[in-house]
Amino acid sequence: MVGAGFAGVGCVRRLERRLTEREAVITLLSPFSYQLYLPLLPQVAAGVLTPQSVALSLRRSQRHRTRIVPGGVVGIDTAAKVCVVRTISGEFVTEEYDHLVLAPGSVTRTFDIPGLAEHARGMKTLAEAVYIRDHVIAQLDLADASDDEQERAARLRFVVVGGGYAGTETAACLQLLTHNAVKRYPRLDPSLIKWHLVDIAPKLMPELGDKLGAAALDILTKRGIEVSLGVSVASVDEKTVTLTDGRVLPSRTLIWTAGVAASPLIGTLGSETLRGRLVVSAEMDVPGLDGVWALGDAAAVPDLAKGEAGAICPPTAQHAMRQGKAVADNLVAKLRGERTRPYTHKDLGLVVDLGGLDGVSKPLGVELHGAPAQAVARGYHWAALRTNVAKTRVMTNWLLNAVAGDDYVRTGFLASKAGTLRDFEYTDAYLTPEQVREHTGSFRGAVGSGGGH
Ligand SMILES: Cc1cc2nc3c(=O)[nH]c(=O)nc-3n(C[C@H](O)[C@H](O)[C@H](O)COP(=O)(O)OP(=O)(O)OC[C@H]3O[C@@H](n4cnc5c(N)ncnc54)[C@H](O)[C@@H]3O)c2cc1C
Repeated sequence: MVGAGFAGVGCVRRLERRLTEREAVITLLSPFSYQLYLPLLPQVAAGVLTPQSVALSLRRSQRHRTRIVPGGVVGIDTAAKVCVVRTISGEFVTEEYDHLVLAPGSVTRTFDIPGLAEHARGMKTLAEAVYIRDHVIAQLDLADASDDEQERAARLRFVVVGGGYAGTETAACLQLLTHNAVKRYPRLDPSLIKWHLVDIAPKLMPELGDKLGAAALDILTKRGIEVSLGVSVASVDEKTVTLTDGRVLPSRTLIWTAGVAASPLIGTLGSETLRGRLVVSAEMDVPGLDGVWALGDAAAVPDLAKGEAGAICPPTAQHAMRQGKAVADNLVAKLRGERTRPYTHKDLGLVVDLGGLDGVSKPLGVELHGAPAQAVARGYHWAALRTNVAKTRVMTNWLLNAVAGDDYVRTGFLASKAGTLRDFEYTDAYLTPEQVREHTGSFRGAVGSGGGH
């Protein structure tokens, strides 16, 4: 199993339950020792939740059966059936497989915009959420200490790109952080704090429909967030963000959440992809690659419930965790010579927490906004957390934050990193096919000479 996210952990847990130790050895290849509950990440950045509360330990929920290799897969030799893993100590090790389940998720999608790689910060990993929180508080600290009006204004202007649920939640939650923080910074003029939410699309969160999109826009605008639709970033440098409508915004913060792209590991396979995601059958096996399955954000799983030819499942946790269970069932069926089944799930809707007492949600087609929407959003996520310990941590954090607020403390742990997408999402960590073959040459020899594994 490659990846311990919603899809990977869903699959491993099901396999552990359904297969005996004599039937299968399960190995999980994961650089982290936790499953990240990504939908609550904006609340980590905002300081409402601690990082630990959304990092669900892999060891606590395991039935002590699965062997966990701490590292990321950097290449796969599908002919020799071997993965090359870079462990967390930087060494390369190889792992053979009979069946390989690929669930490495996605990374932040970027475009060829000048300065983006150097200056944009993502919201896809725990490190990024913690980094952004520190960075935003650092801007408040530096603006407070500065006597230069221009520097103050630039440090207090924040730009978020991406009007999907991730970007909208991030802008809303972080704006609340700065709004509430100013009372601890008596030297700062609150009117200098400016938040911009920018998206090239004409609507916010189009998947919620016109009415709720407009409700979200209304909530954000009333809070003072300037939403610019039909606009993107033309270029960015250390001190300015230039928009495609010609505006030049002095700012030290560009948070980039303009969609996701499948993990770069998928591109190294040389197999067919659809919008970057690995093409799989409705049963989630990969055509032409013996014993390989793929799911979650990394795979283009046909969306049979939609009933439209060519539709693929959206990259959501809702699908990924269900696909995990479905792949496990199909893998077990394959091992036992039984019939595999196509994956189908009808979308349950979307819940969006905008911080404070605000939200917009559309559970099972029912449109909600304001406090009821937020209650549904928090209730849904709370129920979906996999362990009781995580549920307790999250609930305690919510209550504590509601009663005592935030202390706006910078941890400084990541201050020495530039915090780029490359730093935190390891987008350039992968091997070329030739490098993979250098690591797996001995296995290829064994296959070629008739030796098995
Ligand atoms: C801010 C934010 C808010 C969101 N809100 C919602 C929401 O409200 N509802 C919803 O349904 N979805 C939401 N999503 C989307 C959802 O989180 C994803 O669709 C879901 O996480 C996909 O699951 P996955 O298992 O495919 O990938 P992930 O959960 O991302 O897991 C992938 C795992 O693979 C690991 N990995 C990556 N590369 C490698 C490698 N080379 N080798 C080994 N392991 C690797 C990663 O470390 C990670 O642990 C949100 C996403 C974000 C970023």
